[in-house]
Amino acid sequence: MKVHVLGVRGSTPAPGHAFARHGGNTSCIAVARDGDAPSLLLDAGTGLRGLGALLGEGPFHGTLLFGHLHWDHTQGLPFSRAVDNDGAEVRVCIPEQGDGDEAIDVLRRAMSPPHFPIGPEGLQGSWSFESVAPGEHHIGGFDVLALEIPHKGGRTFGYRVSDGHGSIAYLSDHGPAALGPGPDGWGPYHEAARALAADVDVLIHDAQHTAEELPSRAGWGHSAADYPVRLAELAGARSVLLFHHDPTRTDDDLDAIVARFAGASVPVTAAVEGSVLEL
Ligand SMILES: [Zn+2]
Ligand SMILES: [Zn+2]
Repeated sequence: MKVHVLGVRGSTPAPGHAFARHGGNTSCIAVARDGDAPSLLLDAGTGLRGLGALLGEGPFHGTLLFGHLHWDHTQGLPFSRAVDNDGAEVRVCIPEQGDGDEAIDVLRRAMSPPHFPIGPEGLQGSWSFESVAPGEHHIGGFDVLALEIPHKGGRTFGYRVSDGHGSIAYLSDHGPAALGPGPDGWGPYHEAARALAADVDVLIHDAQHTAEELPSRAGWGHSAADYPVRLAELAGARSVLLFHHDPTRTDDDLDAIVARFAGASVPVTAAVEGSVLEL
């Protein structure tokens, strides 16, 4: 499988030369089966605008799976020519909200006048909207394990995605400190996090804070970069891709964070917009 990293930033886009190497667009990952065009999108942050170039400006056919619905994961949706396209066929899956609302209505709360000129039904192409429950699914041509993880403000899922050969875990927004300090002070290595990260090739994980910043920001719903490194060691993940970079984190800052983990027992890198992982 091929994993295209289209957006790496958390919270809000970060334009400017200090962010150019890692990229300023918000969360979006496109996953392709070997030799195929991407058929699974994880989140629709502003990085989704990069999908058009991947598809040769053709339309997207596949599934858009949201981990949760915060702005930094949805605001690319109406701005990608690949999905807002007459020829697009998009199945949208969002975490089941438990309030009885239809998936399209949940999305419409953020995307409709007066907040935005159109609602989800105004997107061009053929669209369907549904909720996904925790558990094992076959989505967009992949085996997907969906499990709820702690974050702040809205139900949030992490995903384990596999084609039977390669595998990734995607926990873009994860605040384990909500469950207590855990053995290292960054939050416990809880059952859902371990199950999602188990034996994956790449653990793509929230690294919004440093360990030093976490105490003053523990209520924001994000992780210290140290957490996924230790989680990977415990769960058997083979590498860590630090993700959801804070919008104030410059390229040099990210280099310094990665350098801290040079001695870790798994390779640790910081996600770069436009990079491709071949698994
Ligand atoms: Zn986010
Ligand atoms: Zn969030």
